Amino acid sequence: MNLYLFQQDLRIHDQALLNKALHDGPVIGLFIFSDSWFSKDKNGIVKKDAFYLSFIYQTLLCLNHQLKTLNVPLIIKKGVPKHVLEEIISTHNITSIYFETLPGYEERLLYSTLQSFGLPTVTDQMKSLYKTHALPFEIKDLPFVFTQFRKQIERLPKTFNENLDLIPQEKISIDSFIPNPDALGIKFIQHELIPGEKAALKHLHTYLFEKQLAKTYKETRNGMLLFDDSTKFSAYLATGTLSVRKIMNQLSLYEKTHTKNESTYWIYFELLWRDYFYYVHLQYGDRIFSKNGLGNENSTSDNPSFIQTWMQGNTGYPLIDANMRQLNQTGFMSNRGRQNVANYFTKFLKQDWRIGANYFESKLIDYDVSSNTLNWLYASGLGNDPRENRMFNYITQGERYDKHCHFIDTYLPELKHLPNHLKYKVSELSEKERQDFNIHAYPKPIKRFYNR
Ligand SMILES: Cc1cc2nc3c(=O)[nH]c(=O)nc-3n(C[C@H](O)[C@H](O)[C@H](O)COP(=O)(O)OP(=O)(O)OC[C@H]3O[C@@H](n4cnc5c(N)ncnc54)[C@H](O)[C@@H]3O)c2cc1C
Repeated sequence: MNLYLFQQDLRIHDQALLNKALHDGPVIGLFIFSDSWFSKDKNGIVKKDAFYLSFIYQTLLCLNHQLKTLNVPLIIKKGVPKHVLEEIISTHNITSIYFETLPGYEERLLYSTLQSFGLPTVTDQMKSLYKTHALPFEIKDLPFVFTQFRKQIERLPKTFNENLDLIPQEKISIDSFIPNPDALGIKFIQHELIPGEKAALKHLHTYLFEKQLAKTYKETRNGMLLFDDSTKFSAYLATGTLSVRKIMNQLSLYEKTHTKNESTYWIYFELLWRDYFYYVHLQYGDRIFSKNGLGNENSTSDNPSFIQTWMQGNTGYPLIDANMRQLNQTGFMSNRGRQNVANYFTKFLKQDWRIGANYFESKLIDYDVSSNTLNWLYASGLGNDPRENRMFNYITQGERYDKHCHFIDTYLPELKHLPNHLKYKVSELSEKERQDFNIHAYPKPIKRFYNR
């Protein structure tokens, strides 16, 4: 019996590795909710919080339906991965194990456990547009600056081979095992973005061909509030319910049949950032998790009160607070928001970027270890960024990207009495002005921007 270990590839389209496992068959699928996901760090941050767990759980329900069409049972377990694997291997007489290779620390730990069982393993690289062997350079020679990377990659073909539909195996006498969410300690949440492969494929089609949003992406992508402001592909990519090659092929089709412009190019451009960070992670390995990242020096001083107020969205800076509350209430934050809250946390509050990154890991439904870690390093000047020490202005950023204050009104109702032109400047108001506008419920800044 072959075991297919599902990780961040929770789909049956563009699935060459599952295809291979089926070819070598028969196959059962396994997904493990690691016990470590439910533990807290020293700042009280649980590794994976409710939104992420719920999103994954519902994605797995969909995967189970998809796998049924192939007669592949899916077993979902919670526990210590090594113990779960030992149990499954002995119960089902597993002879080979199939899994995608990911660069994360925990994943690599898991792979050495898998190797230690002494069974044949079959692996594949599934995350990026191009596999490392198809790149025009070796990973050790990856350019340190994104633009140099992009220019070389843009010369490569932009259509991709997707693995064709899978052929179902003969029925086997093993049932799926899908515990209910309570048994796993997971809360079932209604997400705005519907989890699972079917919804992901539908979303891709709707975004491109029904709503035709790709042609205006570049103008809307910095919006912080609306679902249609950006593609919302990230959680589907992070769970693997959408293959990045499928996205690119569909985008190219849209360009051929509808519109090709700077906006459609920009979606590809952003997907290249994702690929780039994945390769940087492969290049530097665990160094990216160190305090200094890819930089030389990073002096911080832990301030528990700063950390807590930032996490709760009570810093007294509306742009930061609205974004953090959005994250806490939905499991998502826009790219504009992420850049600002990360910049504020590291550059302005001078806190250790790893605490912020851990908080994002806990909350984001689209958490991806390479994108998250390297974006945090980038934001704190410790990553692939030639322009160092850039501090954003959190007042003008808010005014620029939330002109009509719809975003701030949604997440900071305490400020509704304030005229729009003052909302992002609330941190600068005098005591008397705060009283006049009756905004006691909103905190004063924990640290002032202008008088720093
Ligand atoms: C501090 C910080 C942490 C982040 N953590 C994550 C994370 O854990 N997971 C994650 O997927 N993205 C992360 N990002 C990148 C980016 O913010 C999200 O991918 C994006 O906001 C998701 O929304 P979208 O799919 O609508 O993006 P769109 O703007 O529609 O972009 C399309 C796709 O391009 C990719 N992309 C866009 N921007 C980036 C970027 N800066 N880096 C890498 N890929 C990008 C994503 O796959 C995204 O789905 C982070 C950014 C910052 C600044």
